[in-house]
Order: sequence, then structure tokens, then C-alpha cells
Amino acid sequence: MCSSDPSKIAHVVPDRSKPSTRDTPADLLSQLVIANHILFERGVLDAFGHISVRHPQEPDRYFLACNKAPGLITVQDIIEFDLDSNPLDADGRPVYLERFIHGEIYKARPEVVSVVHSHSPTVVPFTIIKDTPFRAVCHMAGFIGSKPPVFEIRDAVGDGSDLLIRTPSLGEALAREMGQQDLVLMRGHGATVVGHTLKQAVFRAVYTEVNARTQAVASTLGEIICLSAREADAAKLSTEGQAERAWGLWERSAAIMHNSLINA
Ligand code: MN
Repeated sequence: MCSSDPSKIAHVVPDRSKPSTRDTPADLLSQLVIANHILFERGVLDAFGHISVRHPQEPDRYFLACNKAPGLITVQDIIEFDLDSNPLDADGRPVYLERFIHGEIYKARPEVVSVVHSHSPTVVPFTIIKDTPFRAVCHMAGFIGSKPPVFEIRDAVGDGSDLLIRTPSLGEALAREMGQQDLVLMRGHGATVVGHTLKQAVFRAVYTEVNARTQAVASTLGEIICLSAREADAAKLSTEGQAERAWGLWERSAAIMHNSLINA
């Protein structure tokens, strides 16, 4: 069950000794829903991939939707997790297999407030080629830096995995590979990006895909010039202050798509 029917939610009887979704600012959960819709509408998430946000009052908890396509998520689909990625109020709703990406990064990075895991379509090719590493090539993507890490799952579990982060130890290995970076690529799979705010994580996830498109197109034209490390740092500072402006536009645009989807 992954219902948006409010009558189903009425059966949830949370343990009131613990914080639940009802103890948190409603607008944060609404923003998490909007973030799902934006990332779908921007082509970063499709039927798969997910975004979470850390609990604002309980840093050892986070919020993530149940196992459902991001474009269809409503606030009733949001589940609270502990940092071992155990659901606290799932009430029978299925959870994402790769939720350990979120929990293990929140453990390793106390300053991180939001995590996006995507199969961002133009980023994936950069995870599998050997000769053209992914680099920040445009000023909107300075956060990518001069050398984003690439997680090779064979280094963690050898050959034969399905490439999914399906255990806490794989999540921990991914978080270790990411280190203090804002982005980690995942070979043959996708990418994970973090932010100090929900909106910053959305901004970075969108511009990771934009940067990949830019680099891919430019690479067909000739030799490319990447941002230097100093340029990337300076661009990151100046552009990310504009995240709110982007959010305002993307929110409106995503709302139109969401309404057309649910009313179809
Ligand atoms: Mn995945």
C-alpha cells in the first residue's frame, strides 16, 4: 500500500513518545513533496530515484517517501526513518530499497540536510567511461568541483552485484567515497548529491544534469575547458545564492505538470 487516501492515514497510530511527522513543520514535508515533483519535471528523477530531508528537530531522523514514483508523491506518502534507515511510521507502506544511501550519508555528514539519489540520464554515461571524467564545465555547477568521486561498487562487494545500494554497509561505502564532496557518481547507476538545505540539494541535482548535458555536447565539438578549482569555488558561492529564484519557477512549473498527472 502506498496510498494518498487520507482515510488510510487515519489508521496510523504512532508511538507518541517519539517524534513523528506530525511534530514537524508541515511546510517542510510539503516542500519535500514539491521537491519530488520538481526533480521529476526537470528530468532528474523518473519512476526511480528519491530525495530526503533531515528532521529539523531530531537530527538522527530523516523523511523520505514510500516506494512510489516521485512525480506521484503526496504528503501522505512521507515516512520518517532513523539513521539506520528503519522506517518509524511506515504503517505497511513499502520503502525504497536504496534508502541506506540517505541514512548513511546523514550519519557521516552532520551538516547535510538533504540528499538526492538519481539516475540522472545524462550523468550516467560519465559514470561508465574511462577517458572523459565528469567535471564542472559551467558556472551554475561549480559545486561539482574539479574532481567528483566515482563509486565503484565492485571495490565494496566484488563482481556480481545488481549495483544497488541495498545494505547499510554499501551505503556506508558510498558515503566514504563521497567524503566531503557535494556529489558522488555511481558507476553504471547514477549519482547522489547533498545540500545544506532541501532547496540547495534540488538546485544541485538539477544542475548536475545540466552540466552533464553541457559537457556531453561540448565534447562532441572539440576539446573542452573545465572550471578550475578556484573558479568552481567562486561560482558555487555566487550561483547557489540564487537557488530560491530557481525554486520559485520550478515549483510553479512542476505544479502544472503534477495537476495534469493526477487529473488525467
Ligand atoms: Mn538507484
